[in-house]
Amino acid sequence: ITRRHLIAHASPSISSSRYLGTLVIAEHEGGSLTATSLSSGEAASKFLNKDNSLSLLLAGTGPSLQEAAANAASCHPSISQVLVADSDKFKHPLAEPWARLVHLMQQKGEYSHIVVASGSFGKNVLPRAAALLDVSPVTDVIEISEARTFVRPIYAGNALCTVRYTGSDPCMLTIRTTSFPVASASPDSKTSAAPIHQVDLSTLVEDGNTRFVKQITQESERPDLGSARVVITGGRALKSAENFKLIEKLAEKLGAAVGATRAAVDAGYVTNELQVGQTGKIVAPDLYMAFGVSGAIQHIAGMRDSKVIVAVNKDADAPIFQVADYGLVGDLFEVIPELLEKLPEK
Ligand code: FAD
Repeated sequence: ITRRHLIAHASPSISSSRYLGTLVIAEHEGGSLTATSLSSGEAASKFLNKDNSLSLLLAGTGPSLQEAAANAASCHPSISQVLVADSDKFKHPLAEPWARLVHLMQQKGEYSHIVVASGSFGKNVLPRAAALLDVSPVTDVIEISEARTFVRPIYAGNALCTVRYTGSDPCMLTIRTTSFPVASASPDSKTSAAPIHQVDLSTLVEDGNTRFVKQITQESERPDLGSARVVITGGRALKSAENFKLIEKLAEKLGAAVGATRAAVDAGYVTNELQVGQTGKIVAPDLYMAFGVSGAIQHIAGMRDSKVIVAVNKDADAPIFQVADYGLVGDLFEVIPELLEKLPEK
């Protein structure tokens, strides 16, 4: 039985008359695929049918890239091949060379769909690649109804819009990773590893307009905000960066990620990579705790899919209580110290 047959039977398919494949633009870190790339693979597997295969594109340089490729090849039974672009051009996550790479892959592969996670990387690369390919991307997809019909939120998540893509190939999508959780693999679901192919980059067009200067990242022991199971968020009510440490202490005790409202970020209490909301990160943890957050629609847009929402606010009429499963009308400067005292040490 060939891998292609396995794919045809492995997953629910969405009919597509074309004999074409789907390309997933993937990111890797420390020799493994990122959690968001696994979600992209999950979304892309919805396009699989007997005539459609799934290719995963990785780029970078050196041993960690090859390690990530080997891990990616056996991480999901739907993956038919891993394409590896090994070059110094991809040493840093610059959008321009990446967009040209996607353009090149489309010329080589004629994919029906190209999928990437809707994070800062995907939002940076996909529109550029779409412009090079002269197609319109469909962004922030939360549901794949048919091969060319998708659901995406509009008006800060207050309405859902069904979109039919009528343009030419490829149909390019960014997906909301929280809507495509990765099912844990059953013991016998792992078949033999997919083949790994090195991409011939000799025809890659150079882009002389951009150069890498530096990357500033925050080192943190805490879980990643986008994929954490528990998120503790603080709002403007914290009043200062010093006070915001209360939120950080609580997060530490609960093994949680820290989030913030835009008001807290704009006031300089924390850096903007912690912002949750329409113009920040979209999160959907098992538990979301909001302290001193009013619940503006732009904030709700980023956390409304959390499984359990807990809100602490001293105003009983604060809109956050409309989406909260548990609400406490109280002063966070009393509630958090009490929680810190009563919660057991890790
Ligand atoms: P506030 O609205 O000022 O609320 C503070 C809350 O704390 C109040 O409800 C108050 O009752 C309560 N409080 C005060 N003191 C205490 C205390 N001691 N104990 C307990 N409770 C207390 N916002 C985001 O968060 N994310 C986004 O991505 C985002 N994108 C935006 C995009 C656009 C285009 C626009 C226009 C706005 C956006 N905003 C975003 C901003 C948003 O509209 C709100 O201004 C912001 O979310 C408010 O933050 P906040 O809840 O911390 O502050």
